Amino acid sequence: MEKDCLICKQGFNRDYVVYEDAEWLIRHSEETNILGYFIIQTQGHILDLAGASDKECASYGPLLKALTASIKELTDCERVYTFSLAEAVPHYHLHVIPRRENFPRAYKGRGITAYPTEPACASELVEEICRRMRALLNRQSRLAVN
Ligand SMILES: [Zn+2]
Repeated sequence: MEKDCLICKQGFNRDYVVYEDAEWLIRHSEETNILGYFIIQTQGHILDLAGASDKECASYGPLLKALTASIKELTDCERVYTFSLAEAVPHYHLHVIPRRENFPRAYKGRGITAYPTEPACASELVEEICRRMRALLNRQSRLAVN
């Protein structure tokens, strides 16, 4: 735990958390109007996966597969983008983003990193997709939400 780290300080909306265990936490992004844009992050403060424990590594693949499959089921997207930059917040978190058919061309592919962080999605819509995501993650991976 780093006292100045936004993720360690849990500076995010707990209502948008869809999965949590000792190693990982998955939540919907608050900085987007892309519904179904989730973030998977380590519970411990590491910069990138070079610092991950064996336990974190072992559960990462199955969890990311379950999240990706669930995003595809919930959003009917053509691609699921994933990237980790850790520039603004140097705590490992992977952006997992559905790219739908009607997505603006300027933000397709590498352009995704320029996608605006505001306005946010309506909270009712995010809460609904979070509810459905919790159900899917439980079904697909038999992982329990704490
Ligand atoms: Zn941290």
